[in-house]
Amino acid sequence: MYRKVKSQERGMNAKMFGMVKNVLNNLFSKPATRLYPKEKRPFFKGTRGSLEIEIEKCIFCGICQRKCPANAITVDRSSKTWQLNQYKCVLCNVCVESCPKKCLISKEQFNNPTTYKELYIQKQEAQEAAQEKEIKVAGVSSS
Ligand code: SF4
Ligand code: SF4
Repeated sequence: MYRKVKSQERGMNAKMFGMVKNVLNNLFSKPATRLYPKEKRPFFKGTRGSLEIEIEKCIFCGICQRKCPANAITVDRSSKTWQLNQYKCVLCNVCVESCPKKCLISKEQFNNPTTYKELYIQKQEAQEAAQEKEIKVAGVSSS
């Protein structure tokens, strides 16, 4: 009986020693994962995070719309609009590679999350009209 109790004690001591060793190891070793969001992993080179257009370079040829496998792009030559539905885009990069003016850019940054559906629309004509309006307003206010 005495021998059995002694061997149980020895077993408990060995377990405790193992636990303390683990605790001390974890306390003084590097963390196994990153401390996100304090420490963010940089994007890999070539990450396809989001799509952007330099609208001033676009000639509204519609090649990107025709090549897009997800039907995410709508180009309207008459109203000079280029429209991307980000919820359809699968970031395949086909439009970026096929654009003759190289005005589409695949950014390494992901879009911010959003709680409502919105389309990312850029209208060159609207921008020009807005600029003209600003010039007119500035002209009226200065005269
Ligand atoms: S392929 Fe390029 S230039 Fe042509 S409409 Fe698309 S973005 Fe504009
Ligand atoms: S990246 Fe691919 S899916 Fe997205 S708009 Fe361009 S062609 Fe379409």
